[in-house]
Amino acid sequence: MKAHELGVAALGRALHAKTVSSTEVTQHLLARLSSHQRQGAFLATDAEAALAAARAADAALSKGAGGALTGVPVAHKDIFVTDFAKSALPSTAGSKMLEGYASPFDATVVARLGAAGMVTLGKLNCDEFAMGSANENSAYGPALNPWNAERVPGGSSGGSAAAVAARLLPAATGTDTGGSIRQPAAFCGVTGIKPTYGVCSRYGMIAFASSLDQAGPLAQSAEDCALLLSAMSGFDPRDATSAERPPQDFHAQMLSARPGASAAQPLAGLRIGLPKEFFPAALAADVAAAVRATLAELEKLGATLVDVSLPRTELSIPVYYIIAPAEASSNLSRFDGVKFGHRAAQYADLLDMYKKSRAEGFGPEVKRRIMIGTYVLSHGYYDAYYLQAQKLRRMIADDFQACFQHCDVIAGPVAPTVAWKLGEQGDDPLQAYLADIFTLPASLAGLPGMSVPAGFGAAGMPVGLQLIGNYFDEGRLLHTAHALQQATDFHTRVPAGF
Ligand code: GLN
Repeated sequence: MKAHELGVAALGRALHAKTVSSTEVTQHLLARLSSHQRQGAFLATDAEAALAAARAADAALSKGAGGALTGVPVAHKDIFVTDFAKSALPSTAGSKMLEGYASPFDATVVARLGAAGMVTLGKLNCDEFAMGSANENSAYGPALNPWNAERVPGGSSGGSAAAVAARLLPAATGTDTGGSIRQPAAFCGVTGIKPTYGVCSRYGMIAFASSLDQAGPLAQSAEDCALLLSAMSGFDPRDATSAERPPQDFHAQMLSARPGASAAQPLAGLRIGLPKEFFPAALAADVAAAVRATLAELEKLGATLVDVSLPRTELSIPVYYIIAPAEASSNLSRFDGVKFGHRAAQYADLLDMYKKSRAEGFGPEVKRRIMIGTYVLSHGYYDAYYLQAQKLRRMIADDFQACFQHCDVIAGPVAPTVAWKLGEQGDDPLQAYLADIFTLPASLAGLPGMSVPAGFGAAGMPVGLQLIGNYFDEGRLLHTAHALQQATDFHTRVPAGF
């Protein structure tokens, strides 16, 4: 097997067994990604810094030191800031506003994966300030779906999903505010998990909607995700909403057998809830078929399927598209050409400088959201929109708790269709908003959600199965997905040409 084909766990074992060195793998991947630049997955690389980190990892490994991630390459969605003094990687959030921005520090997630010995290859393309579902809102051009270059990789972590699917990297970080890890993972046929809100620190994650933003890994398998999540999560005093819990070993949780389970029935006793609202008539037939077939696999492994209901699923779209822009309009006020960001070259006075700098620096989707957010927070509209949305948000979270009385895990599709064609949605942002319907509810409730490859649909494009757990139940999601991946091989498929 070639080095780029190995996932995180397998590569970690090969590095410890010295069948390959981190320096060799890093060189191999750097060469590979320069020959696949057309994919648009990467925004920046620093070969020198990566090779220095690889040599340090090799030195540790040669002494028998290091853990499962030592020497394994990774790259970060360009929403995470990375210390420019350590590697010459700008932190842009996919925006012209932050073109060339040199961060003076590492995000906690970046620092933790670095401390675990991972080798940072670079920064990955994404929608501007993580706003989007197709990576088409990046100021630096689209990323292509490795399964079909005419199709989008999903978003906003499109570069992360595309890079893992194309085997340019064994794993990548992503962020998920309303689906941005799960949906691109589904569109590109890779595995991704958004943990419970608060599990990964938001420190150094360029803020979109602070009450929703959460980091997570994208990788080939549940096992690989578990390894990364263990290293990147944990309490951080620098994030006021960080969950105060002891460090978690998600890999051990993923492996731990269920009571009553057997080798043939590893999921014996697991109740999987299927919300009827996740299987509407409008769900694309190819997606429905792949998801149903994968649910049948889970049944063979011992799980029981139960019908549940999330009656406010449709409302999660207006609720999210009020709350997220409201928070974004506040978070993005710091990009004013003074504190942060692009400054217009010519201006009459201070107000003109703000106006021109923001007009030039932000793209159309970001401007749209700043306007919507400012509107719903303004006097007279706050009660009518923002407050109502907050009340509904609580009811959506309560609906999940009602479901978890009857099931352990909730399942359904990640997205209503497979990846669409680049440019297909034209100038209609509503189309993309509506496609977020199955990922938004868990985001609004702050619950962990996962996307697991579940076969292929129209035009041979991947389909993802979504698994949603109760708070801090990441271990159960990973266990379920791992059992499925022991019995199926969708997650091992590689697009032609890669
Ligand atoms: N597609 C959603 C949006 O555009 C979600 C984005 C995200 O999770 N960052 O807001």
